[in-house]
Amino acid sequence: MKTGKQQQQPRLSLSEEPTIRVGLWESVPRLRLGTSAWFMANGNPCGPGTYETAADHGTITLSTEAGIVVKADEHMIIEPLRGDAITVYDMPIGRSFHWERLQEHQYRGRLLCQCTESGCLRLINEIPLEQYLESVVSSEMSPDAPFEFLRAHCIVSRSWLLAQILRKTTSDATKAHKHKQQWTDATVHRHFDVCNDDHCQRYHGIGRVNTAAQQALEATRGQVLMYGGEICDARFSKCCGGITEAFSTAWDDREVPYLQPCADCATSCSDIRMQISDEESVERFIHSNPAAYCNVTDRALLARILPDVDRETLHFFRWRLDLTQEELQEILREKTGIDFGDIINLEPLARGASGRIYRLRVHGTKADEVFGKELEIRRILSRSHLYSSAFVVKSRVERGTVPSGFTLYGAGWGHGVGMCQIGAAAMAALGYDCKDILHHYFNGTHVLQLYP
Ligand SMILES: [Zn+2]
Ligand SMILES: [Zn+2]
Repeated sequence: MKTGKQQQQPRLSLSEEPTIRVGLWESVPRLRLGTSAWFMANGNPCGPGTYETAADHGTITLSTEAGIVVKADEHMIIEPLRGDAITVYDMPIGRSFHWERLQEHQYRGRLLCQCTESGCLRLINEIPLEQYLESVVSSEMSPDAPFEFLRAHCIVSRSWLLAQILRKTTSDATKAHKHKQQWTDATVHRHFDVCNDDHCQRYHGIGRVNTAAQQALEATRGQVLMYGGEICDARFSKCCGGITEAFSTAWDDREVPYLQPCADCATSCSDIRMQISDEESVERFIHSNPAAYCNVTDRALLARILPDVDRETLHFFRWRLDLTQEELQEILREKTGIDFGDIINLEPLARGASGRIYRLRVHGTKADEVFGKELEIRRILSRSHLYSSAFVVKSRVERGTVPSGFTLYGAGWGHGVGMCQIGAAAMAALGYDCKDILHHYFNGTHVLQLYP
C-alpha cells in the first residue's frame, strides 16, 4: 500500500541495461545533420542527405536545400531506420579547456531535438548504456592502452554514470557558498542525464569506437563498483600528481569513504608518503620527482595510454606557468568580472591531501576575494583552465610591493579524485589486473554484476 509522502523513485530499472540521455548541445540556434541512410523524423520517412535543423519561436524545422521537410512543435525525434548512424557537424569538444575544437560526430540511437526556454535548440542522444560506454571508453583512452586498465575504466565509467542518475533525484548539484565557493556536478543537468564533454565524461559518438573498448566492455558488461550496498560514485581524472585527492576538495563537503586520498604507488613505496601539512611541505612535494605510478616518463607508454587529443599535453605530472602582472590582471578581470587592480599575491588558504588548493585568496590593490573549489580556481587563473589546482606561487618582485609577474609550479592534471587514469594504465602495464587497480583507487569496494 502506498502511503503519504513518497520518495521520488529513480527512473532506472537496474535489472536490465538502461537507456540513458546524453546532452550533446544545451543551446544552439541551428545545426547540421547528415546521414547515408533513411531515417524517421517525428514519424516522417526522410532519405539520405544533409539537413539543417533550426528552432524558431517554439517550432522546430528540418530542411534540405530544397526547403522544409518536417515541421514540429517543441520536439522532434530523429531516428535512423536500421540502427544506422547520424552525423552531427561542427560539434564543440573540450569546451573552454585547452583542447577545445570542432569535430564531426556520428551517433546511434535516437536524437531528440527540443526547444529551449530561450528559443534555441537542445540536442539529446538517447542510447543504451553499454553503447554509450563504448564511445566514452574509446574517447577517454587510446585503444592501445593495456587491457586490464580498459576493463577497470569500463567498470568505473559505468558506476559513475549510474550513481549520478540515481543521485539526481535527491541532490542539489550546483553550490554557491560565501567566499565564491562553487562547483558543479552531473546532477546540474536538468534535461538529460549527462553532457557529452569533459564536465561529465567525454562522449564523441561512435566514429571513434574501437575494438579494444568493445572487448573491455563485453568482459565487464553490467558490472559496477559497490560500497556498502550502494553503487560507487566512482570518479576519475587524468593524473593525480602523486597523491589522489578527497571528494570534498572538488565537490560538496562530505566524506566519501571509498574516495579517500592515497599515495599513487605500491604500498612499499615510502618517499611519496610525506605529509602535506604546510606550504613548505607542499613546495617540497611539487618540486620533487616521486616514484608514482602516474609519473610516466616513457613516451612509448604514454602514447599507448592517451588518445590523440591529449598527446599534445606532455608535462602534466609537474608543470609550470609564467604570467605577467598584466596578463594575470586581464585573465582575472575576464573570468571573474572583478577589477583587482594590481595583484599583490595569490594566497592558498586551504589545500587537500594532494596539494590541490580549494580556497584561494586573490589579493589586489582594488579588490580582495576568496575563490574555490578546485575547478573554479583552475578556471579563473587561465584563459582555458589550469591543469590542476595543486600549485605553489612564486611572485617576481623587482621594486616596491607590486610583483611584475607570477610563476605557478604545479602537479597533476584534473581534480585528482578517485582513479588516476595515467596511474591506472601504468599499473596495468606493470602487470596488475583490473581488480588490483580498482582496489588501489577505491578502497573497500567490490564488483557486482548488476544486469546480464
Ligand atoms: Zn556535464
Ligand atoms: Zn596518479
